[in-house]
Amino acid sequence: MTDRTSISKRAIAVEPSATLAITAKANELRAAGEPVIGFGAGEPDFATPPLIVEAATRAASDPKSHRYSPAAGQPALREAIAAKTLRDSGYAIDPSQVVVTNGGKHAVYQTCQVLLDPGDEVLLPAPYWVTYPEAISLAGGVPILLPTDESTNFTVSMDQLDAAVTDRTKMLIFVSPSNPTGAVYTKEQVKQVGEWAADRGIWVMTDEIYEHLVYGSAEFHSMPVLAPRMAERCVVVNGVAKTYAMTGWRVGWMIGPDEVSRGATRLQSHLSSNVNNVGQAAALEAVTGSLEAVETMRNAFDTRRQLMFDMLNAIEGVTCVEPQGAFYAFPNMTGLLNRSLDGSTATTTMELAALLLEEANVAIVPGEAFGAPGYARLSFALSDEDLLEGIGRVGALAVR
Ligand code: PMP
Repeated sequence: MTDRTSISKRAIAVEPSATLAITAKANELRAAGEPVIGFGAGEPDFATPPLIVEAATRAASDPKSHRYSPAAGQPALREAIAAKTLRDSGYAIDPSQVVVTNGGKHAVYQTCQVLLDPGDEVLLPAPYWVTYPEAISLAGGVPILLPTDESTNFTVSMDQLDAAVTDRTKMLIFVSPSNPTGAVYTKEQVKQVGEWAADRGIWVMTDEIYEHLVYGSAEFHSMPVLAPRMAERCVVVNGVAKTYAMTGWRVGWMIGPDEVSRGATRLQSHLSSNVNNVGQAAALEAVTGSLEAVETMRNAFDTRRQLMFDMLNAIEGVTCVEPQGAFYAFPNMTGLLNRSLDGSTATTTMELAALLLEEANVAIVPGEAFGAPGYARLSFALSDEDLLEGIGRVGALAVR
């Protein structure tokens, strides 16, 4: 009998996004006049480059933008995404394989909806980005967590993959550079994982949203390029958000074999129809334009990355592996637990995050949100001054 008193079990089961919750709480305190420094946000602090904004402004005055457009995305943008993919990662695809989505997040959700049936298992290395397990579960899939730690630079091993496979395994979720750890898999590792999946006929959703944000000797590599045999069971997720400081514009895409893109387009035609045309015009300018502004932002992130890495490791009780990509550090903070921090004590990183927000006006995201208690994620996409001041406050609390 239908339970008329309640909303659906599906909606009840969804965890709110911990990263958005921390950011909201920090903003609330800030609005109340507290000098909060937020390390929670997963977005660049730069403005979108002017040429992109101008393209959007022009599109907004064009009556063509005021109408519905094809659900899978404007043809010019799908073509430009195919060209950009070849330019940036060397992956040759047909524009028909591209489906333009409301951000990379929508592409992740939709990929799970298109590929998973109830009970299908999805291999998910942890720490994971908060949205992955929810997107899997909402499609009826079962996340199978593969825990990793700093001993392997937060990368999953072939042995772990082998041990986790069952005859219900449908897909692996792969992300490099990684949110939340900043880890970047080596070329050899990417190839190995891709070939491993191809040998077993396992689908891979590979999230390339941080492709341009790599530092030092780390390099981005696209899995279907290094392991072409897996391309027929591969979905690439990407978007303009992180590369071009365009998180609020909500334009991403997925690239899959024809059956997947057709399935996603059918779904999308009922779910959301086309992505807003002004945003698509902005994305078109972004992916066809030069990468100069991207390089300027990457250099700024690189400086802050090194500053954060040094400052975190200088705090007694905190150890941090060097982030190689994205804009996150993922320190081990267990050394700050169960001891006095200026008279207060935290027993978990969840409690530590609450304590830091209350006592030091510093917002970090506890590792629990990413399936990794004992750690925390700190974004280094904020100004140098705020970075210095914020980590300085954590350090001061640790010695008081
Ligand atoms: N993938 C990863 C790994 C991310 O960190 C994010 C943003 N936090 C996304 C996808 C989605 O980004 P958006 O929806 O803003 O395009």
